[in-house]
Amino acid sequence: MENLPNCPKCQSSYTYEDGSMYVCPECAYEWSIADSQEQESGLVVKDANGNLLQDGDTVTVIKDLKVKGAPKDLKQGTRVKNIRLVEGDHNIDCKIDGFGAMKLKSEFVKKI
Ligand SMILES: [Zn+2]
Repeated sequence: MENLPNCPKCQSSYTYEDGSMYVCPECAYEWSIADSQEQESGLVVKDANGNLLQDGDTVTVIKDLKVKGAPKDLKQGTRVKNIRLVEGDHNIDCKIDGFGAMKLKSEFVKKI
């Protein structure tokens, strides 16, 4: 079964899909699937200082980090350009000179 969201009005879990809409059979509320998905992808990712990060931001690494599979640590102060926010434990997708594509935890970076 697909994991459908609960009804935003009455919290019913009996919602179903009808074309491009979700429908709640209990209170008859209908809402757009597209809207709902947009909200879900609204990631909130904060840096070490609690500032909100956005796709395309430049950050610096605030402490030396071990990188799996890399011969050296990622040094404190390394600049990371054009980050992309993703879901998960390591919530920043980026490319770093000398390391290539990798993922970082937002708690170890700070926005410039
Ligand atoms: Zn409802």
